Amino acid sequence: MSYDLIVIGTGPGGYVCAIRAAQLGLKTAVVEKRKTHGGTCLNVGCIPSKALLHASHMFQDAQHFAEMGIGVSAPTLDLKKMLAFKQEGVEGNTKGVEFLLKKNKIDAFHGTARIAAAGQVEVTGEDGSNQMLETKNIVIATGSDVTRLPGIEIDEKVVVSSTGALELESVPKRLVVIGAGVIGLELGSVWRRLGSEVTVVEYLDRILPGMDGEVAKNFQRILSKQGFAFKLGAKVTKVEKTGNGATLTVEPAAGGNAETLEADVVLVAVGRVPYTQGLGLDKVGVQLDNRGRIQTDAHFSTNVTGIYAIGDVIAGPMLAHKAEDEGVAVAEILAGKAGHVNYDVIPSVVYTFPEVASVGKTEEELKAAGIAYNAGKFPFTANGRAKVNRTTDGFVKILADAATDKVLGVHIIGPEAGNLIHEAAIAMEFGASSEDMARTCHAHPTLAEAVKEAALAVEKRAIHM
Ligand code: FAD
Repeated sequence: MSYDLIVIGTGPGGYVCAIRAAQLGLKTAVVEKRKTHGGTCLNVGCIPSKALLHASHMFQDAQHFAEMGIGVSAPTLDLKKMLAFKQEGVEGNTKGVEFLLKKNKIDAFHGTARIAAAGQVEVTGEDGSNQMLETKNIVIATGSDVTRLPGIEIDEKVVVSSTGALELESVPKRLVVIGAGVIGLELGSVWRRLGSEVTVVEYLDRILPGMDGEVAKNFQRILSKQGFAFKLGAKVTKVEKTGNGATLTVEPAAGGNAETLEADVVLVAVGRVPYTQGLGLDKVGVQLDNRGRIQTDAHFSTNVTGIYAIGDVIAGPMLAHKAEDEGVAVAEILAGKAGHVNYDVIPSVVYTFPEVASVGKTEEELKAAGIAYNAGKFPFTANGRAKVNRTTDGFVKILADAATDKVLGVHIIGPEAGNLIHEAAIAMEFGASSEDMARTCHAHPTLAEAVKEAALAVEKRAIHM
């Protein structure tokens, strides 16, 4: 069989790339080694974690129904059923991708792909069978894998990665999360809501590294109110399994006396590493950078002609929508169009309650770059809809260039922050000023009015504050 394009991996980067290529008339095939399509995101990432975040949020919300005059008996937890609810959601989504591949007449091969040479992909099936496919172009979209800590073995029962944390058979009494990044805090939230005592150990002296510092500080306060315990500036040096749990040795990152922590389950959530195992890249001469990511140019091309790469396996934020946009862009480039990704406007969201969402530059980044800016901030305590819903934790912060008023960054903690951020993303994509956002009529009563008020606050003229 000969193709215009073979995409390796059907995560959000790979399957979206294949669909766009097929739409543009390229004869396209995909190779996926999992039984189901959708990659990390649909199988063991975004989708199952959001299903559990939704279900656990409902469980917690139900405990407050009485405050609204809704009389129901105290909610009880059937964890097995909740996990089945999650799994049904995953299956619905992965089957959806299978349907879309078929609909777009994309050949899907199940097996592990190895690049034999530019233009040649060998697929090894689970039964050991081999076939060689010919193609003009190859897009590598093999994603990422869990980062492991030296000396700490993940057994997915007591010491788990995010994958095991989506499958726990019972609610651990004590959960210790190593790493205060997005995945650790989201999955920590799930189990906290279901009853675990959650302690987060983080090497840095702050949570959510890379996010706006003020947002991270406020968010930590909110999570602490929800019962999270934090050990910041601390490193886990040892995890010893005991009869039915584990003992962790924790030391101050700067050095000092070690202490021990007892846990029923330990979640290792210290990041993800690009996944290129078994692709045969060294043989074909595809270059990696010093962090093991495939090196690409501005058009997603590797140093080998006809081999491209996108998504978690290349540089940039490890996010599904970044992978998708790169998939579209490289397909368009291969079809002779001008594919492009605007890396300055990639939103990122923490799907806790409240949510945390961010797009563009943080205050720290603007200061480091020496860019003068004005900040406008508006709290949800002053937003009518948030007040009546009693979801007033958080704020909207807009950072605009001091000279031109162009919006450079928007950061939100609050209910629906993950949806609200897209108003800011669109505004930034169109090069809007904070004045443009402030003069756009916003429906009342909505949470989005807090975005308008924050834009007004850039010029110190918020109405409801
Ligand atoms: P992947 O989704 O990792 O897909 C790569 C695919 O390639 C896999 O299916 C793999 O089996 C296949 N593959 C690898 N090697 C081969 C080979 N040699 N042959 C054939 N197939 C191969 N991102 C968000 O934007 N929002 C979220 O809410 C979010 N939540 C997350 C929650 C968790 C718990 C985790 C772990 C991640 C989350 N992410 C989230 C990150 C997101 O999952 C990734 O950024 C995204 O999946 C990257 O897409 P990708 O296409 O690059 O790779």
